[in-house]
Amino acid sequence: MYQGGYTGKILRINLTDQSITKEDLPQKTAKDYIGGAGFCIKYLFDEVKKGEDPLGPGNKLIFAPGPFTGTKIPCASRMAVGAKSPLTNTIGVALTGGYFPVELKYAGYDAVIIEGKAEKPTYIQIKDSKVQLRSAVDLWGMKTSDCQQVIKNKLNDQSVRIACIGPAGENLSKMASIINEMRAAGRRGLGAVMGSKNLKAIAIKGTGTIAVSSAEKFKPAVAAMKGAMKDSPTLYPFFSKTGTSGGVDMFCSLGIFAAKNYSATGEFEPVAEIGLKAQSSRRAGRAHCSGCPVGCTHLKRVKTGAHAGTIAEGPEFETLYSFGGMTGVEDIDSVIAADRLADEYGLDTISAGVTIAFAMELYEKGILNSDDTGGMELNFGNHIAMLELLRLMSFREGIGDLLADGTKAAAEKIGKGSEKYAMHVKGLELPAYDPRGSKAQGVNYATAYCGADHNRGYAIQEIFGHSIPFSVNRFDIKRKGELTAFNQDMRTAIGDCTTFCIFVFDMALAESAFQIIGNLLSALTGFEYTQDDFMKVGERINNIARAFNVREGFTRAQDTLPNRLLTEPLKAGASKGHALSKNDLDEMLDEYYTKRGWDLNTGNPKREKLVELGLEYVADIILK
Ligand code: SF4
Repeated sequence: MYQGGYTGKILRINLTDQSITKEDLPQKTAKDYIGGAGFCIKYLFDEVKKGEDPLGPGNKLIFAPGPFTGTKIPCASRMAVGAKSPLTNTIGVALTGGYFPVELKYAGYDAVIIEGKAEKPTYIQIKDSKVQLRSAVDLWGMKTSDCQQVIKNKLNDQSVRIACIGPAGENLSKMASIINEMRAAGRRGLGAVMGSKNLKAIAIKGTGTIAVSSAEKFKPAVAAMKGAMKDSPTLYPFFSKTGTSGGVDMFCSLGIFAAKNYSATGEFEPVAEIGLKAQSSRRAGRAHCSGCPVGCTHLKRVKTGAHAGTIAEGPEFETLYSFGGMTGVEDIDSVIAADRLADEYGLDTISAGVTIAFAMELYEKGILNSDDTGGMELNFGNHIAMLELLRLMSFREGIGDLLADGTKAAAEKIGKGSEKYAMHVKGLELPAYDPRGSKAQGVNYATAYCGADHNRGYAIQEIFGHSIPFSVNRFDIKRKGELTAFNQDMRTAIGDCTTFCIFVFDMALAESAFQIIGNLLSALTGFEYTQDDFMKVGERINNIARAFNVREGFTRAQDTLPNRLLTEPLKAGASKGHALSKNDLDEMLDEYYTKRGWDLNTGNPKREKLVELGLEYVADIILK
């Protein structure tokens, strides 16, 4: 029996035989993995067989909020979505916020596991304990906002919360996202996994509440969290007012805002064109995740051009990077329009923008020509071509079919040396922070369990100057392997598992997170967590995720960065002259594996490390 934080139930839906079952969440799983990403990774390792086709019925799609979700803890309305990723073939987890995760928890579930494949397009309706499979034949082909509205109308309930896919997911684009309201579980193509199951949407309504183990301890713990947020010099005074979109100005000033497919970082710095000032004349309101007093989501309205009047929730910083910096597009209205289109089609904005930038560079280098593009001039900066490519990729039309599965797959098909312009790690397109001027970001891109994902081990020490666990110089390679292992474990446990918002963590809590989050978690659940316990949970999860990838054949050889980053120094800007050689990366990786207790040659976790983390059964499977 759980004292608080958990409902204690897992909902399992098999779309092949239409069975719906509810099972108990083992207490040991809750204590050892906390929730969210931890649950996704544990269940995926245990239940998805080696070599399973990510787009086959044997893959599983898991939606898992955390113990904080739906409680009075602010900024904790998030959930993780997990599956074997079709984009990377690694374990795949994406985090999202909004209102859907809270509703899922109120409906009574710590996770929903979806298996098999429906015969026809289907959506799932969950109303507390009542779960029904309904036809989505008439919804198939709809954009995400239409799909959500039509389901609300059908159910005669405008308050139901919906997660769905758009045409990109239906057409199995390996960059497809899952959208709830305009929030996205964006990365790693989990929308294609949903599409492969003929699952268009999940509609949820819950009326339950979340118990608290000790109300006496919980109240002051929530107050301490709110106090830390209030005391932050950046959270309300800056971040709340700008959201992540202030990042263009900040990261250009550091010389690490990647541009034109990573060929012009520091040279092309479009602050005046797409930075804060340019965005300010497009403001159209604010949005909040459930229970969040920060409200970092700023809506923008397109002012000019074919999409005038369109409103987007964002663009967030990474979207400004992918549709602005990477493509060389200087037109803010086109970046806002691209953001909205990507959400409507259900495409990950980072992977989509980086893939378009890749195609633009190939076109400029003559590797692609106008016969390939259907007559489109695909030079950097062509905002009309960018918007058209989003449609083509989503519907797999023309060159869009070639690009719909991301840069790695496209380069394999195109050949002609195009791989050296494909900016990905393990198939996942790179985020905005150029690691030549921020070395720990590079180690994280190379080693994160799901490809180049900034959020899995974001080096707050390099960017915000935090000193936990120690201060660093962003240009230096010293102690960056050790730092990356720490960041990955800390973020996994504190953010991805409790599902506390990592933006608020970065701005307000980093230095005091273990104490504040630990007090909250123990008051809520009755489980005690020290700083060491948290780090062990994070370490356990990063090890089991690594083990999943080892079982799929991944080794140290795939823990690398695109060749361009390892051979070309930065040519301009505040990080001019800084480089990241293969030797630098190898040195940092050696330190990373040593810190992790992994084999230096293979990158495999060693048996003794897995046993120490309570993962003997994992060692028996991957090291036999
Ligand atoms: S800070 Fe932003 S992303 Fe985080 S919970 Fe609040 S609105 Fe959501």
